[in-house]
Amino acid sequence: MARIGFIGLGNMGLPMLRNLLAAGHRVSAFDVVASARDAAAAAGAGAAGSAVEVAQAAEVVITMLPEGRHVREVYLGADGVIAAAADNALLIDCSTIDVAAARAVWQAAAVRGLEMVDAPVSGGVAGATNATLTFMVGGEEGAVARARPILEQLGATVVHTGPSGSGQAAKICNNMMLAIAMIGVAEAFTMADRLGLSAEALFDVASRSSGQSWALTGYCPVPGLVPGSPANRDYQAGFTTAMMAKDLRLAQDAATSVDVATPLGSEARNLYALFKAKGHGELDFSAIIKMIAGEL
Ligand code: NAD
Repeated sequence: MARIGFIGLGNMGLPMLRNLLAAGHRVSAFDVVASARDAAAAAGAGAAGSAVEVAQAAEVVITMLPEGRHVREVYLGADGVIAAAADNALLIDCSTIDVAAARAVWQAAAVRGLEMVDAPVSGGVAGATNATLTFMVGGEEGAVARARPILEQLGATVVHTGPSGSGQAAKICNNMMLAIAMIGVAEAFTMADRLGLSAEALFDVASRSSGQSWALTGYCPVPGLVPGSPANRDYQAGFTTAMMAKDLRLAQDAATSVDVATPLGSEARNLYALFKAKGHGELDFSAIIKMIAGEL
């Protein structure tokens, strides 16, 4: 069992921390928000007054922060985790951030002789709670081998995607595909409705035809067709529109940085930014069907 420091105790971090405690690790935790620190202490984590304090005492530091700027702030600089960490500590960043920030932080860790992986997740809050997340892990073989047993206690699938930053690349490529597929499903069901084709009939055909996708059969945006779909509970997230808009922004920044044309990714980014701007950032991302249907 390891001494683990956990930084970022939000919707994802807190249930992940609970699973580490349940697995028998000793965990100290920090968040800038006091109520998050209290929740971690109530779950059985040791309280820490700062990220530095967490890092000093840990064999493994895990972060689950909102964006690249928070990750840079926590890891870099004279009072950052990298400067404070014990020699030989392993650093695991599970946040979804830009590839450039992931590589910059990994580089700073390498200069100090510390191993680090980027390990963003898919599976949402339910996956974090039930320890069924998928981890996409970028980093060197040895670092990934050290991280794997811990990540396997937090998720069902751990994929080594390649060198540092490749976990983030995998995450945004995956979510760009998902957003495009979801918009496609939403357009098709809206059109079917106006053509007098029932949602049930379209589902029966497309789920067994070449139109099949996870957006359709795993997460259908029309209520009543797929058990567990957020559409069945008024689009309560799930995976929020705000999160999807963020990932699509990261995807477009990455596409621009390598000069790749992604016209559908760009359109998906615009549609999700618009849906969020209309005030629906907290709805599940599958609720985009409501905007396409002219209902929101
Ligand atoms: P969240 O906003 O609920 O939690 C982030 C936490 O980090 C907050 O409690 C915040 O106070 C804390 N924080 C911010 N700056 C800090 C700092 N400098 N030091 C310490 N703590 C700090 O976000 P979340 O939903 O838990 O998501 C975390 C990451 O996981 C994001 O990058 C997100 O894109 C990714 N992700 C989320 C989901 C999801 O469904 N929520 C799914 C997959 C991936």
